[in-house]
Amino acid sequence: MAVTTRFAPSPTGRLHVGNLRTALHNWMLARKAGGTFLLRIDDTDAARSEERFVDAIRADLAWLGLEPDGEERQSARLAHYEAAFERLKASGRVYPAYETAQELDLKRKVALGRGLPPIYDRAALSMSEAERAAKEAEGVAPHWRFKLDHDTPIEWLDGIRGPQHFDPAQLSDPVVRRADGSWLYMMPSAVDDIEMGVTDVLRGEDHVSNTAVQIQMFTALDAQPPRFAHEALLVGSEGKLSKRLGSLGCDAFRETGIEPEAIVALLARIGTSQPVEPIADRAALVESFDLGHFGRAPARFDETELARINTAIVHQLPFDHVARRLPEGMGAAAWESIRPNLERVGDAADWWNVVTGPIVTPEFDAETLAFLAEAARVLTWSDDPWGGLTGALKESTGRKGKALFLPLRQALTGRDHGPDMHTLLPLIGEDEARARLSRHAPA
Ligand code: GLU
Repeated sequence: MAVTTRFAPSPTGRLHVGNLRTALHNWMLARKAGGTFLLRIDDTDAARSEERFVDAIRADLAWLGLEPDGEERQSARLAHYEAAFERLKASGRVYPAYETAQELDLKRKVALGRGLPPIYDRAALSMSEAERAAKEAEGVAPHWRFKLDHDTPIEWLDGIRGPQHFDPAQLSDPVVRRADGSWLYMMPSAVDDIEMGVTDVLRGEDHVSNTAVQIQMFTALDAQPPRFAHEALLVGSEGKLSKRLGSLGCDAFRETGIEPEAIVALLARIGTSQPVEPIADRAALVESFDLGHFGRAPARFDETELARINTAIVHQLPFDHVARRLPEGMGAAAWESIRPNLERVGDAADWWNVVTGPIVTPEFDAETLAFLAEAARVLTWSDDPWGGLTGALKESTGRKGKALFLPLRQALTGRDHGPDMHTLLPLIGEDEARARLSRHAPA
């Protein structure tokens, strides 16, 4: 069967790095299998969902190059949930309950006080018709719970966690519908996974107990459950679930000059047995993707590591990829010359300013000034003006090493370090180079 995965964010905020990781893994899982990757907007919570977040989710995925093959929205599928709900009602798998939030809270406290797990006691299941009618007459509308099948143990082979086992009697019958008729996450998600032909659900391990419940929902709706895999959560470099990770998203990355390829390379591999490497080639990353490489320990997200990967990625980016982000007039040769010196693409402008000038040079002593005057005199232009210049000066002055190269670099660029002068000097050009060298000549 063709693989279909989905990324199902709720548009109640911006995507953070943990969400991006889940999206990436679902994208990779689908791509590796030649399957379909869906974006499903989980917007049944009308009060908290916002259109600007839907737009931002699309934009973030596009920036990362994780374009979905299709998009679905839960708010457009309410009739499907209604139909599934009616079926579950007809088969006695959902039941009305009338407890208030306060009553439920009290039940939980009493259970905990007795040292019992705070599982819903199913009091609503044993209400008589008359008791229900009395509630309705009082104007109390019911919320609805899914009735777990206590006789069927829940089991699945998790793609990351291995064999999983849940005793349904140890779980509360989940509320699937609120008294106002609105849907909670659990049932619409299962209905969508069935109707959209989702074959693989890959999500965070905070969903493991939801999976247990949803497996029974699939069965209750006469559907085969998909394969499930739950990845360990993402933690900060200090090993804790940090607040910072919750607010770190594409905007922050873009602003600090992090390339999407760097985020992808890092998020593809952290928490797996494979090394994090600056792999800019998406196809290679996809090829190496395998749920079997994922570990159970939390994945550590380290911003220093991201910066390191980013630098290595920047050094690989081809001109065409960055051209529109470079200063006016900066061409392929300049990009290739400057690229090895960059940590961020945005810093290319600094080096381009060095090429175009003006530059500020240090104060040179008399001996160095004489040397630079000699350099201006012997400068000739060729395919390799730097090789020619340094060769001639070595000959005529006997200087070598740092004594030869550093004053030239300083006079020509105003810096002590930088791109290879063999490639940089041709960019500066003959007239400008001569001017920079002879500017220091004693009048
Ligand atoms: N909207 C849910 C979430 O963001 C989706 C979970 C799932 O993948 O089923 O947590």
